[in-house]
Amino acid sequence: MSPHQVLWLRNDLRLHDHEGFRLAQASGLPLTVVFILPEHWIARDELGMNRLGNAKATFLRGCLIDMQRSLSDVGLTLHILSGEPVCLLRELLGDNGTLITSEPQAPEESSWLKQLSDVRPVITYHSQTLFERQQLQPLLNDFPSTFSRFRRWLQKQPDIRIKQDISAVGLSLIDRPLTLSAPVSWPDQPGAVIRLPLNGGERIARQHLQDYIWKSRSISHYHQTRNQLSGLTCSSLFSAHLAWGALSVREIWRHLVSWEQLNPQSRAVRALKDELLWREFFHWSLVVHGTRVFRQRGLKEHASDEHTSDEHTSDEHTSDEHSAEAQIQVQFDDDLWQAWCRAETGVPGIDAGLKELERTGFVSNRLRQNMASYLIHELRLDWRLGARWFEQHLIDADPASNYGNWAYIAGVGHNPRPVHRFHLNQQLRHYDPELIHLHHWLPELEGLTAEQILSHQSGEHLLTRYPRPIAPVPSPE
Ligand code: FAD
Repeated sequence: MSPHQVLWLRNDLRLHDHEGFRLAQASGLPLTVVFILPEHWIARDELGMNRLGNAKATFLRGCLIDMQRSLSDVGLTLHILSGEPVCLLRELLGDNGTLITSEPQAPEESSWLKQLSDVRPVITYHSQTLFERQQLQPLLNDFPSTFSRFRRWLQKQPDIRIKQDISAVGLSLIDRPLTLSAPVSWPDQPGAVIRLPLNGGERIARQHLQDYIWKSRSISHYHQTRNQLSGLTCSSLFSAHLAWGALSVREIWRHLVSWEQLNPQSRAVRALKDELLWREFFHWSLVVHGTRVFRQRGLKEHASDEHTSDEHTSDEHTSDEHSAEAQIQVQFDDDLWQAWCRAETGVPGIDAGLKELERTGFVSNRLRQNMASYLIHELRLDWRLGARWFEQHLIDADPASNYGNWAYIAGVGHNPRPVHRFHLNQQLRHYDPELIHLHHWLPELEGLTAEQILSHQSGEHLLTRYPRPIAPVPSPE
């Protein structure tokens, strides 16, 4: 086999701000571009879950189709394969190939790259974050326990720069044909409802960025509307595009800086930048803490507990432990869990969110917090069950943000307070006072007042036409 290169795309499905394509072009060797759908993402686990719910699969396919189109415009092919990544890549690399791929985030990815670098040269680049590892090295050596400390550290670094050159490179490379066949059998996707601007693909993502900031100027009310439960312009809806890398976070940041220059007092931009820094914080936390993030006691597990804990599989397992492999061995109440999965908890505010997430692959941040709080503090289930359920369905599923947020609410992550229990009746009264969201997802409850719903949720006056709460929520003081 003559020298060649393989570019393995994972969550960097774009051409702009793509160091991988720049490296490939600089080397000039014939190129194979692949995306691999790991087979264990599709297989159901012992709890009947996988990592590719219907809406998520639909969104991912949108990203891949768009990428295929963009590459074919420059004479390259995107090969979409299914199987075990290390085996497939070893075969593709042969004895003369070089692998180019993005830096790992989750332990599972690190393990893949470690196995591959044992046999062939592997060149990595940053694609997911605002900053690169060497810029944050002092921070990574002593990772802050809270987000505020992380942000304060960044504020004290006047010289820290976010990469500015993010245009796509001109590609003129020989397309190296593929010699193996590993076709993807996509899951059936009946019923997934993906709405604009939440279709997948770089073109849609960049158009959405333009529209959100410059055309509709929806960004101007971000700080006031971001907690609402429904509405397509309440928050930015960047997350799914970021999770699959159809949009570069540096591209978003560049636009926010331009908006800020025109609107120097903008509270909205400050708030949105903060959220992007939360994303950054969880990303680097996962890189630093690795598999600890997926354990039941998370970052609160003392080093001395690590070899005695029976709540996770085993510490030898660290190389390939990731979200789906963070096995749940604790006993849990299957009836409660099944009711959650069927969106029949009997708490309308939660069931509405569960239905929305399963159908569309998306729910607002506020509702995610409420749902997580209910599973953890009212149902008292292992928080990782909820995280895995989210991971299956969310079109923006990202291990760092997903497990980071769940662990925070469970009190085992980067939370400064031990417990984050949300008062769910107050939340509903405050964030859906007209029951717009609730009636949309539970039309059978139309005509009922907020007081009737709240009283049912807390088990005081039960509705006859809705299931009894499997765990009532506390009633307002
Ligand atoms: P905006 O409010 O417009 O925020 C802009 C961007 O900032 C988002 O796109 C996202 O990249 C980032 N961001 C915002 N809030 C957070 C946060 N709390 N943590 C980390 N980054 C944030 N986000 C994911 O991207 N993937 C997940 O798998 C995920 N799982 C979550 C699970 C739970 C239990 C909770 C409470 C939150 C989770 N989030 C996750 C964070 C947040 O809910 C979503 O990023 C946000 O709702 C996406 O909508 P948006 O793009 O309109 O956000």
